[in-house]
Amino acid sequence: MSPSSPAGSSSSSLSVDYTNVLLALPDGSIPSNHADAKSYTISSIGGYPTFPPLPNIPKEINCGICHQPIPLLTQVYCPLENGENDRVLYVFACARLKCQKRDGSVRAFRASKRNEEYVKDVEEKRKIAEAAAEAEREKARKNPFTLSSDAQPNGALFGSSQPLFGAATSSSPNPFASSAPVPAPQQSSSEAIPDVSKLSLSDAPSTSTTLGPPIPAYQPAQYLSTIEEYIPPAEDVDFESDSEIDGDEDMKATMLDDTWERMLPKHLDEVFQQFVRKLESSDGGQKQVLRYEFDGIPVPYSSASPITRKLFPGCEKPLKKDEELDLNELYRGKSSLNGIIPPCTLCGGERTFELQLVPYLISLLTPNTLSTTGEAADDKKKKQTEAERKKELEELAKKIKEGKRDDEVNEMEWGTIMVFACKRDCIGLTEEYVGVEWESSITI
Ligand SMILES: [Zn+2]
Ligand SMILES: [Zn+2]
Repeated sequence: MSPSSPAGSSSSSLSVDYTNVLLALPDGSIPSNHADAKSYTISSIGGYPTFPPLPNIPKEINCGICHQPIPLLTQVYCPLENGENDRVLYVFACARLKCQKRDGSVRAFRASKRNEEYVKDVEEKRKIAEAAAEAEREKARKNPFTLSSDAQPNGALFGSSQPLFGAATSSSPNPFASSAPVPAPQQSSSEAIPDVSKLSLSDAPSTSTTLGPPIPAYQPAQYLSTIEEYIPPAEDVDFESDSEIDGDEDMKATMLDDTWERMLPKHLDEVFQQFVRKLESSDGGQKQVLRYEFDGIPVPYSSASPITRKLFPGCEKPLKKDEELDLNELYRGKSSLNGIIPPCTLCGGERTFELQLVPYLISLLTPNTLSTTGEAADDKKKKQTEAERKKELEELAKKIKEGKRDDEVNEMEWGTIMVFACKRDCIGLTEEYVGVEWESSITI
């Protein structure tokens, strides 16, 4: 699962066109009886979540609106670079119509557990760095013109903008691949769900826990593999400039790929256009379902949504002629998201942006792949034609209008789901902050 290089580029190390973002793409289904289906070190979409041995593992995750168990969208194994923990993020969303577009129907959790192998690794790197720093000081003492050793602090292992080690490498680490030694997760059957009421904080289960039927799940679960994001230079991108199509909404629509067509609102806003371009122009990344960059900058979906206006204040203002919208410049979280994103509920520390889900995921996790048996849903239903599907949705819409069947599950209707998680990677299982941009919010 090494990050792939774009075709024709042999030396990727210094290309400015690579961003620091890792894109996750679906990579084949995980058989439900395979050990990977019950591992917390595997990144996947759909299926059931597996939690590492930690106290207070829930029996199910419930919707904040209807309080029913909700399916997993993704489990992402993402230990931090130079961190000491296994770190897993989970995102769940209610598929019921009545809960769509309501806060509380999408929830994210983080499980962080100390990994002795990583601890050893960090300790070794620290020793090497200390030895190097000592050698530097020795050199400095011999050279009266250099600064004193006091000017070279070497105490802060993490948290400085220039980490002591882990300096610019040719490629960013892949948090999804478990290249570092990871102890084989112990398996447990879904029947072995601990009784939460009997657990105390010091009372962690000795094995991992995989949730199971009758909780709904998108089946089959699918592996995620990652590539580094590569945006080819602008002149290679097949987009017409705005000036050529100014004022012609229809032409704007036709220049975009079919994938996006059904999502296009009447009035395109610049934020949405940038979102689409970023995803569409990514080399080999058109099928990205998830974007990962710890402490990075999310790509907002719409200037109309409250979370975007908080994170990128001013992004909704009309642009002057020849003015470009620079979202990175507007981003409030460059140093801290204090006051915008609430702190970690476990340790009180700051949260930062970590990952976001993008709409291609919706086309993979469709209502007809939802199952409560642990197996893939009926194949016959899966092969529904587009016309049949449309008819079914129309019938459903009619019933909803009449106030019936609002318990029905439906296709998800978000534009992006952003997850903000604890910067300190504190140990335990906790709910993290989600910022959801709903699909309708782009119609202004
Ligand atoms: Zn719900
Ligand atoms: Zn924390």
